[in-house]
Amino acid sequence: MINKQLISIAALLILLGSVSPALCAASPPPTPTSATAETAPATGETAPAATPVLYDGLWFLGFNLNKDIFSDRHGVQVKKAIGQALDRETIAKTIMGSPVVPDSIVPKTMDGYLAKSYAPAYSAKAAKAILRSAGYSAADKRLDGLSLLHTDGVKTIQIAKLIKKNLAAIGIKIDLVQVAYRDEEKWQTALQSGKFHMFLLGYKASSFGALFIGDTKTLVFHKIGCAQLPGPDYQVFFSSFAEGQARGYAPCKICQPAKEAPVNAYDLLNPLFYSKGSANFCFYQNEKIDNLLDQLAIMDVSLGTERNEKFLKINSILCEELPVIPLFYIEKL
Ligand SMILES: [Zn+2]
Repeated sequence: MINKQLISIAALLILLGSVSPALCAASPPPTPTSATAETAPATGETAPAATPVLYDGLWFLGFNLNKDIFSDRHGVQVKKAIGQALDRETIAKTIMGSPVVPDSIVPKTMDGYLAKSYAPAYSAKAAKAILRSAGYSAADKRLDGLSLLHTDGVKTIQIAKLIKKNLAAIGIKIDLVQVAYRDEEKWQTALQSGKFHMFLLGYKASSFGALFIGDTKTLVFHKIGCAQLPGPDYQVFFSSFAEGQARGYAPCKICQPAKEAPVNAYDLLNPLFYSKGSANFCFYQNEKIDNLLDQLAIMDVSLGTERNEKFLKINSILCEELPVIPLFYIEKL
C-alpha cells in the first residue's frame, strides 16, 4: 500500500525539519496519503519571492465507484451534479486561502493541465436539473444517507460540513464519518474498505529526489549522499533546485545537483487513477488510462511534448468520467 515515492505534505514537513539526511534517504516516513487540509499551503508567505508557485498535489472529493449510484448508467450524471452543487470557490479561496479554484483535474503547472477542462459553475439549480434528467426525483430514497469519509483537521471538517450543506440543497443527504488523521492505519483501512460512498483526500507527488542540502558555511548545496555534506549544525534543506539558488546557494560541482523536472504528473496520477494504483481509493478502472500510464512509465522524460499529450488525454478522460471532484491544488513546497 505504501508508495515511498510519494509523501504527504505533513511527511515532507517532518522530513524538512529532521536532522539526519542519511536517515531521510534510507527510510522515508511511511505516511503517504493523508495530507490534511491544515498542512496545505499558507499562500506563499514562506516561499522565497523568486520561486514561482508550482503545484504538485491535489485535494479532492473522491467517489467510491463500487457504489451503484456512481457507477451505473447514470453515475456520471450524479457525479456531475455533485460537482456543480459544490461551492468550490469558498472551499479553495475562503477556507484554504488558495489563489486558484481548480479548473482541471491535473493541477495547474503540471503536465496535462488544461485550463477550464473542469469548470462547472456553482449552481444548485443546474445540479438539480441534472439529477432529474438522470431519473432521480426530489425525494428519491437513493439520495438519502450517502456517507462521506474524512479526517479530523479543523479545515477538513469545515469543508466536509460545507459539502454536506451544498448537497442537502440538491436533495442529497449525507452522513459525515470522521477518522483521526493521526491514526494512519485506521484511515487507510477505512479508505480501502469500500464501505463509504465518498471521501476527502489530499495527495502529493513530491519525490525524495528533489531534496537538497545546503552548507551554511560554504553556501554550496548538495544532493543527499554527497561526500561533501556539511555536519548537521551547518545544514539547511531545500525542496527544489530553484529554492537553493533563490536562497543564494550554488550547486556542488562534485555531486552536481540537477534541476528536477518541474513536477512529474505521473507520480500524482499513477497512484490515484491507475487501476492498481496505491492510492486508488475510488476503485477507478479505465483501460485507456492504464494504457496511457503504462506508456508514460517507460517514456523518456526528455520527450516533453509527447508526454504532455498523453497527460492531456488522461486529464480529459478524468474530467469526463469524474472519479474525483478537485477542490484545491496543493502547492509544491
Ligand atoms: Zn555535493
